[in-house]
Amino acid sequence: MLYTPLAEIDPEVKNIIDKETWRQLNGLELIASENLTSASVMEANGSILTNKYSEGLPGQRYYGGNEYIDELEQLCRARALKAFNLDPAKWGVNVQPYSGSTANFAAFTALLQPQDRLMGLGLPDGGHLTHGYYTAKKKMTASSIYFQSFPYGIDPATQLIDYDALSSQAKIFKPRMVVCGASAYPRDWDYSKLRAVADREGAWLLCDMAHTSGLVAAQELNSPFEYCDVVTTTTHKTLRGPRAGLIFFRKDLEHAKDLEKRVNEAVFPACQGGPHNNTIAGVATALLQVAQPAFKEYAKQVISNARALAAKLVAHGHKLQTGGSDNHLVLWDLRPVGLTGSKVEKVCDLMGITINKNAVSGDASALAPGGIRIGTSALTSRNMREADVEIVADFLHRAVEISLLLQKEAGSKLLKDFVRVATNQEEGKVGYTQV
Ligand code: PLP
Repeated sequence: MLYTPLAEIDPEVKNIIDKETWRQLNGLELIASENLTSASVMEANGSILTNKYSEGLPGQRYYGGNEYIDELEQLCRARALKAFNLDPAKWGVNVQPYSGSTANFAAFTALLQPQDRLMGLGLPDGGHLTHGYYTAKKKMTASSIYFQSFPYGIDPATQLIDYDALSSQAKIFKPRMVVCGASAYPRDWDYSKLRAVADREGAWLLCDMAHTSGLVAAQELNSPFEYCDVVTTTTHKTLRGPRAGLIFFRKDLEHAKDLEKRVNEAVFPACQGGPHNNTIAGVATALLQVAQPAFKEYAKQVISNARALAAKLVAHGHKLQTGGSDNHLVLWDLRPVGLTGSKVEKVCDLMGITINKNAVSGDASALAPGGIRIGTSALTSRNMREADVEIVADFLHRAVEISLLLQKEAGSKLLKDFVRVATNQEEGKVGYTQV
């Protein structure tokens, strides 16, 4: 039983994995938060390390039998610092967070008291849910339930972060923490401006570099480590590892000599139980790869591809938020062509192209977004270059043309035929897909 292959024990799950493998490798994966991690990372991630409980830190565990797990966690920490070129005398890292969301909540728990104030980039302007998001009707996220939050935004004219407005708002709101980093912002950050605001208000500066950490490691973007007190990241986006989170913290702050203890205790026992050691092994392997010259080339190509894709969409007459990209993603404003993000997302799905609908500046609601977000991390992992992504941009332009046609023909035979052909099924057998 222990060593019987999955296909024999559970053909149903095996079949689902096979279908998803086919989908990932035969389609075009353009979700900006995704990537294709390596077989070696998946081997580590799927290893026997999943069996082990190891609550606590290396050398201070609540369970026996952790000599190899201690070795692994130390290795992963050392590789995380090396990947970002950090001096171990100045920076430490906790590698136990299960994901980006739990890393953020643990970091907030370490730095803030309940109901303290934080400012993060608003969700409709590209921020993440965990940066204090709430709606007029509801406090949706733990970061807005347990803390008081106020969103800063982008300048409607330039669509770049409005640092001046942020500074004025901070004078009134008096945050204990300023959070930077985003899920849908195609440009780089000016961390020095945020540091100045944080210093003036006596606030922590935390960067959640989840989306761009691979590009930061490759030194293709500004480094948040020069200015921030704490830096969090996921490990599975541009960093190309398994799904997890990391929290980096300053060890040399005069006013917070205890930051290491606070962060470690916030992860465990405040927010988590036993670390997922199999994932930590996968993260360690991914970080080894990140520190190699080939990864720098990869990160450069990710950005070059995003720029080439953006330029081709603009050449087709489309409007992009900020007009282009400095990183791995492009935010496409579909409102000028009269489409919603969800329509184009569905048509792309039928074409084997995976993207996601996304709010663009000025959208009334993040729930009915007027744009889509496109990322080049996964295509670049498949060795695509500028010429390849330009063809992808042509496909996307075609998807918009088809969406417009279908919108005009809503409910018509043309729409049904399209769905039937796109899904390669017989008419009558396939459910009607509303696009
Ligand atoms: N932070 C940012 C900026 C993100 O974009 C995301 C996810 O997309 C997260 C945190 C959350 O990460 P996870 O899904 O691993 O919890």
